[in-house]
Amino acid sequence: MTDEILQQQIEYYRARANEYDQWFYRIGRYDRGEETNQRWFNEVAIVKSALYQVGAVDDILELASGTGIWTQELLNIGKKITAIDASEEVLAINRSKLASPSVKYYLFDLFKWQPDTEYDLVFFAFWLSHVPPQLLDSFLTKVYQSVRVGGQVFIIDSRFEPTSTAKNHILEDDGNIYKSRKLNNGQEFQIVKIFYQPDELQEKLKKVGFQADTKVTDNYFIYVHGKKI
Ligand code: SAM
Repeated sequence: MTDEILQQQIEYYRARANEYDQWFYRIGRYDRGEETNQRWFNEVAIVKSALYQVGAVDDILELASGTGIWTQELLNIGKKITAIDASEEVLAINRSKLASPSVKYYLFDLFKWQPDTEYDLVFFAFWLSHVPPQLLDSFLTKVYQSVRVGGQVFIIDSRFEPTSTAKNHILEDDGNIYKSRKLNNGQEFQIVKIFYQPDELQEKLKKVGFQADTKVTDNYFIYVHGKKI
């Protein structure tokens, strides 16, 4: 069951590539009105400023990099970025938006990924919530292995908040990790989506070896700044 959904999850992001940014920039189905949108952008600004606390580094690994919303921020922090994603469509958008020789792109399924390099910073946004629980420990262990001693990890993800998603998505905190997602044309996919509580995430990162500081914004985001000591 999960394998099939993980494949659908890849297909969903491939098909959604051209409309993905509408979610982040609150356009179309994701436009929740001026006040709510402003709340979102204010919270994005809080998370960005926390990310900049990482300071200047040389090598960054960005997992599930998507269309470059965060890759463009990482370019201000690191000298070199390795960006991995399983959708060639999002990587093409990322590449054409940033047009930077400092970013190297790799088309790869993260559930088949075996780390072989250590980085100063490993970053992933809105990815952890798509990792099924039975694969979480092994995924986080790989993240730990890909951070050098003294290096950092930064994670951003969604909190459970109905206005975070499209108007025609029903967001239920019902314990079901499989959720339905629609494209603008109504095509529907099943994906994995898990909303973590800060304590729970903090504990999981501690278990794999990170010293982590997990925070939330008022409504939309959970974020972690961790270190490998
Ligand atoms: N990090 C980006 C951002 O915040 O804008 C994109 C986040 S998006 C919610 C999830 C990303 O995970 C998509 O770009 C999708 O293509 C990618 N993805 C889905 N399944 C994957 C897999 N098995 N391996 C690698 N990337 C995957």
